[in-house]
Amino acid sequence: MTESRPRILVVDDITANIKILGAILRQDHEILVASNGAEALEIALAELPDVILLDVMMPDMDGYEVCRRLKNDPRTVGIPVIFISAMNEVEDEARGLEVGGLDYIVKPVNAPIVRARVRIHLELKRQRELLQRISMIDGLTGIANRRQFDEVLASEWRRCHRSASYLSLIMVDVDFFKHYNDQYGHLAGDECLKAVAEAMAGQVRRSADRLARFGGEEFACLLPDTGANAAYAMAQRLREAVSELGIAHACSAVSEHVTISLGVASLIPENGDGAFRLIDLADRGLYHAKQHGRNQVAVI
Ligand code: GH3
Ligand code: MG
Ligand code: MG
Repeated sequence: MTESRPRILVVDDITANIKILGAILRQDHEILVASNGAEALEIALAELPDVILLDVMMPDMDGYEVCRRLKNDPRTVGIPVIFISAMNEVEDEARGLEVGGLDYIVKPVNAPIVRARVRIHLELKRQRELLQRISMIDGLTGIANRRQFDEVLASEWRRCHRSASYLSLIMVDVDFFKHYNDQYGHLAGDECLKAVAEAMAGQVRRSADRLARFGGEEFACLLPDTGANAAYAMAQRLREAVSELGIAHACSAVSEHVTISLGVASLIPENGDGAFRLIDLADRGLYHAKQHGRNQVAVI
């Protein structure tokens, strides 16, 4: 129970102020403390607290600078910062909000207001994170959706371009799936897609690899730092995993059960953009696999 308590980083160069805020929040939150800007940045990065209460006036590095640096780092940009300051000038508050602070509390602090504002920002953060997660996941299968796939493809393309390493893509399409729907109904079709996704996900073990629902009954599996041979082997494992599910498909012309066709493309990205080329190549492989009898892998 105690582990799930939200963690609040309190930053102030004056110990008495830390004590006051700690006393206000200790009951419902785990309190982390820092007494200067450098320490605040260090703890924020190491602990990724849920909210940061940040004093403005501190020697060496003031709160504005701390906040600016937190917001410039993708690892800490999502942590809500609430400024706590003795200065109640309007310009100071504006500056705090300009550098990325979400709220501003003026000292001397009032306990119910501090608790309420912390609660509000915790709730907003929770909702933001939930939305972020939902927007990246396919609702039917629970694997990555097209949006996530596009983002990962773009960033892996750039990364593999910089490191001159192979990037491979497997495009997957369920064979005669229209017939499957016609024969067993769309709900059974949905269950089939879930099972196919789960079987393939069970084969994707490296954390950098990304299996996604590309759209409809098509899936994509992105394999960074992976050459053609390894990608081909992975594609065969995906094909076998789906075949071994043994889902009856009375209207398939190639098998008694549900099968998939796969196209594999591998390349070292030559320029910073152009990831669509990889999709295009893998698509050609998929077309080839379909033309040559389905339930098979074709490499381009
Ligand atoms: P092929 O072997 O050439 O790929 O034949 P196919 O019938 O699979 O190809 P086609 O692209 O004509 O049909 C795809 C079907 O997939 C049609 C569409 O209704 C179905 N489909 C796409 N998305 C979903 C879904 O989310 N649920 C269900 N049940 N069916 C879907
Ligand atoms: Mg299709
Ligand atoms: Mg199909």
